[in-house]
Amino acid sequence: MAQAEGRALQVLKAWNLTPNMRRVVLGGDDLHGFPEGSESGYIKLIFPDAPRPRPDRPAMRTFTVRAFDRAENQLTVDFALHDDTGGLAAAWAKKAKLGDDILISGPGKIKWIDTSSDWLLLAGDMTALPALLCNLEALPSDATGDVVMELTSSEDAPEVSLPEGMTLHLIINPHPDGTSTTFVDKIRSLTWHDGAVSVWAACEFKSMQQLRTYFRNERGMDRTKIYLSSYWKAGVAEDEHKKIKGQDAARQQELEAAG
Ligand SMILES: Cc1cc2nc3c(=O)[nH]c(=O)nc-3n(C[C@H](O)[C@H](O)[C@H](O)COP(=O)(O)OP(=O)(O)OC[C@H]3O[C@@H](n4cnc5c(N)ncnc54)[C@H](O)[C@@H]3O)c2cc1C
Repeated sequence: MAQAEGRALQVLKAWNLTPNMRRVVLGGDDLHGFPEGSESGYIKLIFPDAPRPRPDRPAMRTFTVRAFDRAENQLTVDFALHDDTGGLAAAWAKKAKLGDDILISGPGKIKWIDTSSDWLLLAGDMTALPALLCNLEALPSDATGDVVMELTSSEDAPEVSLPEGMTLHLIINPHPDGTSTTFVDKIRSLTWHDGAVSVWAACEFKSMQQLRTYFRNERGMDRTKIYLSSYWKAGVAEDEHKKIKGQDAARQQELEAAG
């Protein structure tokens, strides 16, 4: 298959890492040429048979390259399982088994935390765990700061080995539906250390907005030191979320330009 149309891959293995996180390992001839070092970058899963959001575009969902093994020709993607039955990707992942087909495109841009700062703050919910963990694995051994993870259950805590100077905080939110503020409250409650800080955070849309207000308006952070993204929005599928996210970013830029 021409790569402009996506890479046609097959499921090699699929299993639940934790109760609400399913790992799917993909392979196949079309994976040859997939770039090394793409961990934490995003890919699109393409669902050609699902209703199209626009006549000129198939349904797509965004996921993170958790790992890519060139020697084994294997691409690993971790799916946060959610109960919303409308979720194309979550429903696909729940049932994924050896030999299933999937089309992917990418990888896209990689967003690493800027580790040159004096201290670091990394935070993410279950959808952001794959990219967050890639970032954590790449931290220098002398990194200091905090990591906040919002998990569906305590059993979803990933195995992670952190530099001595990093402190891990787990927030349990059994119903990730965009209504809880415990994740944002935890981040707001952390000691704001002296010196330059870098932030990497990804989560639900409303939490993203609240964190943006906190980092930019209340803490006065420079936007170049922040990676902050909403990875999903409660109540709407990815296409609608993307639209709302774009409108929100444009409004934010106008506000900032107006001073
Ligand atoms: C750059 C980027 C990287 C991402 N990487 C990953 C990743 O590696 N792993 C991962 O799991 N997700 C990841 N996501 C998030 C993922 O794209 C969204 O959760 C997506 O909406 C899932 O698609 P779906 O087909 O399952 O649900 P959709 O069809 O998009 O949505 C259907 C319904 O499910 C709800 N929903 C979607 N996600 C969740 C959720 N996590 N919890 C509760 N309700 C939900 C929606 O609000 C909607 O009501 C990433 C997003 C971005 C932007």
